[in-house]
Amino acid sequence: AAKQRNDGAVIYDAAMDKSSAQSLSLLTELRNAVERNELRLHVQPKISLATGMVVGMESLVRWMHPERGNVFPDEFIPFAEQTGFIRVLTRWVMEKSAELCGELAAQGHHLKVSVNLSTRDLMDQDLPVMFADLLARHKLTPGSFCLEITESAIMDDPVRAQHTLERLSAMGLDLSIDDFGTGYSSLAYLKRLPVNELKIDKSFVLNMEKDEGDTKIVRSTIDLGHNMGLRVVAEGIESEAVWRLLAELGCDQGQGYFMSRPIPGDQMIAWLEKWQA
Ligand code: C2E
Ligand code: CA
Ligand code: CA
Ligand code: CA
Repeated sequence: AAKQRNDGAVIYDAAMDKSSAQSLSLLTELRNAVERNELRLHVQPKISLATGMVVGMESLVRWMHPERGNVFPDEFIPFAEQTGFIRVLTRWVMEKSAELCGELAAQGHHLKVSVNLSTRDLMDQDLPVMFADLLARHKLTPGSFCLEITESAIMDDPVRAQHTLERLSAMGLDLSIDDFGTGYSSLAYLKRLPVNELKIDKSFVLNMEKDEGDTKIVRSTIDLGHNMGLRVVAEGIESEAVWRLLAELGCDQGQGYFMSRPIPGDQMIAWLEKWQA
């Protein structure tokens, strides 16, 4: 079985079973993926539900594997977290996101870019310094970044997570609680953490126009967020009916296939021009 060293490397026992042999090869491939340029930054637009204006975008990583084809993040992110490779991956995503944000701003499109952070990232004491360096190199203001964190990522080591998040927040970066409503103790964290945004999980949004229970949960979550002075975002908007309903309920922003699937970052300018036309 695999053992983890402090530096994130993985050591293997002599009696290596098939599954750890497979994960060793996956780790090697994942390491190579960066050098071989197999990772792609996709972005999904974030839209103001009241005005239809594009206000931001979420960075979502893709892996174009030469043999396996398109590997989705749900298949390799958990693995990247287990092996510590997530640190490299997150840095790659941060760098590409900053680049794209700068390019778009140069064309007059000032969008806030949201990046997903994992448990391991929150344990990384260097993260705030890395962000400071990133912002300086790309001449971006801290407000051009939003960091999305799940409740389960915070749960792992709440004290340390809170410390990292407080430092990032003090620098002026926005913090968002992702997949809100699916974790264990959402409310306690909302009270304690320097959060700016609450993101309603798509499981409540996808069929909300047909499901009274979902609608009630979404309505209550929007009210809760607003009462706490937060921006509320819905993900998983797949129809105009759901957009309308969310707009009526006062939800601030939304993302979903109805507006756009995640698209390659280099197609964002073209997409924006089409959306505005
Ligand atoms: P997430 O952060 O909750 O991202 C939202 C997921 O919902 C994305 O899946 C997105 O493509 C999908 N989605 C967006 N709109 C719709 C819609 O209208 N309908 C449906 N059915 N789905 C929609 P994706 O890109 O496969 O990412 C899956 C998860 O992988 C993400 O969930 C996030 O937790 C993780 N992930 C992706 N990129 C990164 C990354 O760069 N770093 C880290 N740490 N995690 C990442
Ligand atoms: Ca997210
Ligand atoms: Ca989410
Ligand atoms: Ca999710």
